[in-house]
Amino acid sequence: MTVTIATLGFPRIGPKRELKFALEAYWAGKTDADALLDTARDLRAKTWTRQAALGVAHVPSNDFSLYDHVLDTAVMVGAIPAAYGWSGGTVDLATYFAMARGDQGRPAAEACGPGCGHAPGADGVPALEMTKWFDTNYHYLAPELSPGQAFALTSSKPVDEFLEAKALGVHTRPVLLGPVTFLKLAKTKAEGFSPLSLLSALLPVYGQVLRGLAAAGADWVQIDEPCLALDLTDFERAELRRAYGALTHAAPGVRLMLTSYFGGYGENLATAVNLPVEGLHLDLVRAPDELEAALAASRESLVLSLGVIDGRNVWRADLPALLDRLEPVVARRGSDRVVLAPSCSLLHTPIDLDLETALDPEIRQWLAFAVQKVEALAVLAQALNGGRASVAAALEASAQAARARATSPRIHDPKVAERLAAVTPDMTRRRSPYDQRREAQRARLNLPPLPTTTIGSFPQTTEVRQARAAFAKGQISDATYEAFLRQETARAVAWQETVGLDVLVHGEFERNDMVQYFGEQLAGFAFTQSGWVQSYGSRCVRPPILFGDVSRPAPMTVDWWRYAQGLTRRPMKGMLTGPVTILNWSFVRDDLPRETACRQIALAIRDEVVDLEATGAAIIQIDEAALREGLPLRRGDWDAYLDWAVESFRLAASGVADATQIHTHMCYSEFNDIIAAIGAMDADVISIETARSKMELLDAFVGYAYPAQIGPGVYDIHSPRVPAVEEMTTLLAAARQRLAGEQLWVNPDCGLKTRKWPETQAAIVNMVEAARRARAS
Ligand code: GLN
Ligand code: ZN
Repeated sequence: MTVTIATLGFPRIGPKRELKFALEAYWAGKTDADALLDTARDLRAKTWTRQAALGVAHVPSNDFSLYDHVLDTAVMVGAIPAAYGWSGGTVDLATYFAMARGDQGRPAAEACGPGCGHAPGADGVPALEMTKWFDTNYHYLAPELSPGQAFALTSSKPVDEFLEAKALGVHTRPVLLGPVTFLKLAKTKAEGFSPLSLLSALLPVYGQVLRGLAAAGADWVQIDEPCLALDLTDFERAELRRAYGALTHAAPGVRLMLTSYFGGYGENLATAVNLPVEGLHLDLVRAPDELEAALAASRESLVLSLGVIDGRNVWRADLPALLDRLEPVVARRGSDRVVLAPSCSLLHTPIDLDLETALDPEIRQWLAFAVQKVEALAVLAQALNGGRASVAAALEASAQAARARATSPRIHDPKVAERLAAVTPDMTRRRSPYDQRREAQRARLNLPPLPTTTIGSFPQTTEVRQARAAFAKGQISDATYEAFLRQETARAVAWQETVGLDVLVHGEFERNDMVQYFGEQLAGFAFTQSGWVQSYGSRCVRPPILFGDVSRPAPMTVDWWRYAQGLTRRPMKGMLTGPVTILNWSFVRDDLPRETACRQIALAIRDEVVDLEATGAAIIQIDEAALREGLPLRRGDWDAYLDWAVESFRLAASGVADATQIHTHMCYSEFNDIIAAIGAMDADVISIETARSKMELLDAFVGYAYPAQIGPGVYDIHSPRVPAVEEMTTLLAAARQRLAGEQLWVNPDCGLKTRKWPETQAAIVNMVEAARRARAS
C-alpha cells in the first residue's frame, strides 16, 4: 500500500489561455461551437494526461468548465430560471452563455478590477448574478432558485468527462460541487425563502449523478462542500448530515471524498469527520493545526486527504519540513489512509512556472505554479513510499531554495523593518478632526455645492493599448510613448474643462492596471509573463507577486500629476491605489503576516501622498476597491482584518495637512456590515457605487450618521448606456433626501477605462447638467 496523490481541480484556461481565446472567438461569431468544444476537449485531454504523467493517482474530472463550475452545477440539476426560455432537455450553449453573460451577442461588460463582481450583460436578458467565490478573486454565477423549485438531471457532463478521460487511459475522480454548498451559494428573489429548504428536492438528482458515475466505472467521487469553512448554524450542520446520509445510501457503489478548503473546519470539524463518507480533505495550509484534531476525532478507516501544498499561492514548499510533519501521520494512519493534495483546487494559481522565461532567476527558484505543485506532491509521496533517500536531490533542492529565500537580501530590507517599527499612532491620524479639515479644505478649494468629478480613468482606447504594447515590445521609443501619453492626458484635461467638471483627473492613460502600475514601481514586487489566473469566464488576471519588503525607491505618479495640473487651474486629483487593494489583488508573502505586508505598502503609498501634497496637490484619491473583498470567511475574524486594513489606509493617508483633501473610492455598495470601518478610515470624501441600487444603500451611511462627504455614483459605468439628465437628477434628489446637500458629490460609480469616448462624453455632459439642475433646485 502506498501514499497516493490527488489534485482537487486544475486550471481550465490553458497554459496559453487557449480557452479564453476560443470562447471569445466563439462569442464574436468568428468560430462555431465545434471549434470551441474541440479546444475544450483538447485542453481537458492535455490536463488529464499531464497530471497522470506527473504521478497523480486521483486526477480530477468535471473540474473543467466552459465558464464556471457553479453554473455547470445549476445546469446539471436543471435550475434554469424561466427568463432564459429553456424548455427542458439538455441545455444548449446559447442558454448556457445567456445565463453566464446575459443576452447573446452582447459584449460582456468589463470589470473594473480583478475582484470587481460586476455582472456582465447589462441589458436584455441579464446574466445570473456574479459574486466572489469565497475569499478568492474567482467569480461564480449564483444559481437563482425559487420556492417550489423543481430539479431534474439535465446534463451528463460529469459522466461524459469521466468517460472521455477513461478513453484516454486516465481513470479520474470526478468532482461535484456538493448540494449544501450549492444551495447556500444560491440567490432567490422570494422574500423570506431559504434555498437550503430545497435540499430534499435536490438530493435525488445528486443520487442519480452518483449512480451514473458508478455505472460508468468511477470508484471515488470528490464532493466539494467548502461551506464547511464558513460559520454554519446547527440546522445547516444537521442538513449536511442528512444530505450525506442520503447520498451514501443512494449510491453505495461510490466512495465519497468530501472536501472543504480556504480554511479549517473549526466548529464544523466534529460534523465533518462524522459524515458517512470514506474520505475527508483537510486544508492544512490555512489550518495546519487541524491535523491533530482530525486524526484524534476521526475513525481509523477514514481516508484523510492532506492539503499540504498551498493551492492559493505561488510559493515553493519546503519539502523536508513537510515530510517531518507527514511521516508520523503516515506511520500512525497507514499509507493507504493518506492522500496528499494541494490545499484546494489549483484553479487559483497560474499553470506553469516553466513558461516564465523573464523572471529573475533568484525569485523564480522560490516559486511553484500548478504543475510544480503537483511535482512537489509527487516528491513527497515518493519520499513517504520509498524513503527520503530515493528523492534526495529533489529534497535538497527544495530545502536549499527555502534557505535561500529565508535569508535573501532581495526579500529582507532592514530599513523597511526599522521604519515600520518606528510608526507611531499619530502617524495614523490626521492632524485635526474632520470638521476642522472641512473648513480648511473649503477655504482652499472653493468648490460649488454638489461638486462634479470622475473616479480617475478615462477610456483605455485601442490606441492607448496599442501604444502601450508597442512600447513594451520596444517598437516605439520612450520619448514617443511619453509624448503620446501627454497628448492623451492634455486632451482629457481640456475636455473636462470644456464640459465644466469641477475636480479633474489626468485620466490614467499611463497605467496598465491600478495595482500593477504601482507594483512595478515598488521594491518587493515581481511580475509574470504567463501567470494568468481565471477571474471569471474568459477573463484572467496576472496578480503581482509580492515577494519582499516593500518600499518606494522614487515618486511614482508625481510627474504625471504635475504635468496634468500644469494644464488647468481647476484642482487636479492625485490618483493612487490604496495599500489594502494592492495587497488583496496580489499573491502575498507566506513568510510575513498579511497585515505587516499591508503596513509596508501603506508606508510606500504614504511617501507618495506626501510628495503629491508637496508638489501642490490639494486633493488626493486613494482607491480601496478591494477593501471589502478581503473580509475573512468567518465573522469572528472580521474585526482583526478591518482593524489593520483601516489602520493601513490611515497610515497611507494621514501624512498631509488639514487643507489637503483625501478621497477614497470603493466599487461596491454593501456597506451595512462594514460602515463603522468605513467611518474609521476618516477620508474626507468617499465615492461609491450606488447607481443600480437607487441610492438605497446610502441608508447605511445615514444610519451611521456618517459625517464626511460622499459621492454616490449617479450612473453605472459597466454598461455603454448613456443615462438621461432626468435619471441622474432623480437619483440626486433621492440622495439629498438622505444626506445633507453639502455632503454630496456628483460622479459616476467607477472609473471609465472600460468605456469608449463617445458614450463617456455624452454621459458626463448629462451628469454635469444634472448637477447644475440639482444645485438650482
Ligand atoms: N481610479 C481607478 C479608475 O478610475 C479606480 C478603479 C476601481 O475602483 N476599480 O480606474
Ligand atoms: Zn471602482
